[in-house]
Amino acid sequence: MAQNTNREVVDAVIAGAGPAGISAAITLARAGKEVVVLERGDYPGAKNMFGGAIYAQPAAEIFPEFWKTAPVERYNVEHRYALLGDKDGTTISYRNGEHSKEGHYNSFTVIRAKWDRWCAEQAEAAGAFIVPETLVESLIIEDGKVVGVKTEQEEFYAKVTIVADGVNSLLAKQAWDRPEIKPENVALGIKEVISLPKEKIQDRFNLEGDAGVIYTILGGPMQGIVGLGYVYTNLDSVVVGLGVSLEDLKHKKTKPYELLNELKKHPTIKPLINGGELLEYSAHLIPEGGFKAMPTLYKDGVMIVGDAAMLVNNVHWEGTNLAMMSGKFAAETALQAYDKEDYSANMLSLYQKKLEESFVLKDLKSYKNVMGFLEDNSKVFLGFYPSKINEFMNQFTAVDGVPKKTKYRQFIGDVIKQRSIPQIMSDGIKFANLAGGILLK
Ligand SMILES: Cc1cc2nc3c(=O)[nH]c(=O)nc-3n(C[C@H](O)[C@H](O)[C@H](O)COP(=O)(O)OP(=O)(O)OC[C@H]3O[C@@H](n4cnc5c(N)ncnc54)[C@H](O)[C@@H]3O)c2cc1C
Repeated sequence: MAQNTNREVVDAVIAGAGPAGISAAITLARAGKEVVVLERGDYPGAKNMFGGAIYAQPAAEIFPEFWKTAPVERYNVEHRYALLGDKDGTTISYRNGEHSKEGHYNSFTVIRAKWDRWCAEQAEAAGAFIVPETLVESLIIEDGKVVGVKTEQEEFYAKVTIVADGVNSLLAKQAWDRPEIKPENVALGIKEVISLPKEKIQDRFNLEGDAGVIYTILGGPMQGIVGLGYVYTNLDSVVVGLGVSLEDLKHKKTKPYELLNELKKHPTIKPLINGGELLEYSAHLIPEGGFKAMPTLYKDGVMIVGDAAMLVNNVHWEGTNLAMMSGKFAAETALQAYDKEDYSANMLSLYQKKLEESFVLKDLKSYKNVMGFLEDNSKVFLGFYPSKINEFMNQFTAVDGVPKKTKYRQFIGDVIKQRSIPQIMSDGIKFANLAGGILLK
């Protein structure tokens, strides 16, 4: 095909100004490269949502000491893990006071519309050119090589193209081998933001100053469903939400907002949000397929990063950190490619190598069987056992004139009636295999 040799070719064009795209952009701009970022939203972050917490260490790799100037809400000092029954719940919590000190921060709650915008401003200040309200429609492919992207209005040509358009990646679907997203490879995340005065949040969550708490919730209305709930504290609002497997929602014909309403009414959650005013309701897909659903990460002239590449560890609610690191690694690979003037798939394969050497692919690899395990065993591991833990706690704490030995025997008898000893042993082996897989792979 004849090519127009007079066309302008920038160093990099990036589709999407989320954490992945902006991290790539700022890394390239700081190295003096000419970068164009195309973002469909009115501004970066305008339409983006998450739980959520950004993680201090990876975020600081891109934005050193960001907490001094970025719009963060609270630094999180405590993780609470709540295992809910129908009307009861068992919560364990881990608090680390050190996480309230500069240099020891672990994570911060942020509001994406503000955070993403701030990150994009840093990239612009470093020299990146960000074009909002611009939907990338397709990749431009010439002689099998990606040479840029096409929007409704124009074509942008670049030595390297970075695909960072999120979970529902148009580009990955159109021109990549990433399979069409299947319900089993994606979860639906929904959330409500509920406004509460700052002092009330401090009292209810036992917090001082701008410290915050994260809840991860299992069971309750999601008993037997592959899904997790969450609560995050912002400065003067509380986020309550859940992420549920689309496959499970489809099979069980359950409506996600009904689950969320039930969660909000649960006695463990209700006192946290009582009297608050609903500010916002939003929903977004979350990649769930992980390592097994990842597409090829690079091709001639192009790399794919963040959610578009399915880089999410959803057991831990980790996505922004993988997105930022993948953006950074893709940019660093591009910098090596410019030095050699080689944009071939072979050269860009360094990107995958960097991911493999980092926690990103190490974690995704070791967790690769977790979602499949939970989907195959949800009734037992997300339904039966969590409910038994709460039943046990109920017996353990009740003062009701029944001798302890009688209670414990009755509890064990009930468990065995519902799940035989061979079944329990087989569950133990399955669980040990899963844990072994995480530790050894
Ligand atoms: C409910 C929920 C809770 C979560 N909680 C957490 C959490 O607490 N911590 C955490 O680390 N992660 C969390 N995640 C995951 C995290 O949000 C993602 O992993 C992360 O945002 C991925 O970043 P990204 O840049 O790859 O994609 P995105 O953040 O999705 O950014 C993609 C960008 O591309 C733009 N775009 C899309 N298509 C186009 C196009 N065709 N042309 C131009 N622009 C386009 C979008 O507007 C967007 O700005 C959560 C996700 C959800 C849904």
